[in-house]
Amino acid sequence: MIKILITGASGYIGSSLYFHLKRKYKILAIDKNKNSFFKIKLCNLLNQKKIEKLLKEFKPNTIVHLAGQSLVDETIGKKKYYDNNCKATKNLIHAMKKNNIKNIIYSSTAAVYKYKNTKLKENDVLIPKSTYAKSKLFSEKIITKSKINYLIMRFFNACSALDKPLVIGELHNPETHLIPTLIYKNLFKKKMYIYGNDYNTSDGTCVRDYIHVKDICEAISKSIVYLEKKSSRSSILNIGTSYNYSIKKIISIVEKITKIKSLLYFKKKRKGDTDTLICDNTRAYKLLKWKPKNSNIKKIIVDEIRWIRFFSKRGIVRKFKNYF
Ligand code: UDP
Repeated sequence: MIKILITGASGYIGSSLYFHLKRKYKILAIDKNKNSFFKIKLCNLLNQKKIEKLLKEFKPNTIVHLAGQSLVDETIGKKKYYDNNCKATKNLIHAMKKNNIKNIIYSSTAAVYKYKNTKLKENDVLIPKSTYAKSKLFSEKIITKSKINYLIMRFFNACSALDKPLVIGELHNPETHLIPTLIYKNLFKKKMYIYGNDYNTSDGTCVRDYIHVKDICEAISKSIVYLEKKSSRSSILNIGTSYNYSIKKIISIVEKITKIKSLLYFKKKRKGDTDTLICDNTRAYKLLKWKPKNSNIKKIIVDEIRWIRFFSKRGIVRKFKNYF
């Protein structure tokens, strides 16, 4: 049986992926933090000896490397991004080489590109702005130079939740992303802050490419199969939908579904946000025969509502970051 090691398995994509792949592969889920949904092996990637030992014992065919400092917040400090993204990746690659582990799938971000208001392709110019995006690009380079087979995935706006084999989704603390914030605040009739309504878009609010986490899990699942082939070639792939929605458009669809009016407050722009971010995913389709099948905006919203009801019933409360 093919063996897969997932780093960052307690995180949003990691925990979703664990349940998505569980029945197909033998999985070792590792993270530096526990989670409330399944058992993981505690391991901080900064502990070089421990990761080497785990790889030696488990001998995975492929590592899905999702661990990282993902909250985009310039007040966090450069060292945390360097340690948890770059140094952790360096340690992991070193341990892979030592144990002759051949394949890695890495979660990078669309934030590495130079801003453009048309669809982004993998060979477009890269100018990461945030410390987060810079650390992700640096980690990409560690991997591309390593001579290990890789698929690097540049995720666009990951969102929503799985409904099968169980309900599981996003629980960042604090939550900063649009979809989980907007829907939660709509359902619980809390104040929703929109950061900027004078962007250069059709209605003045930001336009993004929102991709359902289930489509991300499927892209990773196909990548695992791809990397097992003798003919596989390393590549960098955009993982997004190429659909684009403004914030106002999403609000109107959420309100139609929940039949609740959002309590909207328009605030100034958030530092570092750009008006448009859309994906060209042709390369991922060509290489993996992967297409996003679950990223219809209504499905994204309905699945997120199901997840919010699920964790709220268990007494979990979503916490938010206040920018202003
Ligand atoms: N956004 C907002 N209010 C929120 C959270 C996000 O207006 O409570 C906006 C944000 O300024 C950006 C868009 O929604 O224009 C998408 O933000 P998100 O953080 O989800 O993704 P990213 O900024 O990484 O594209």
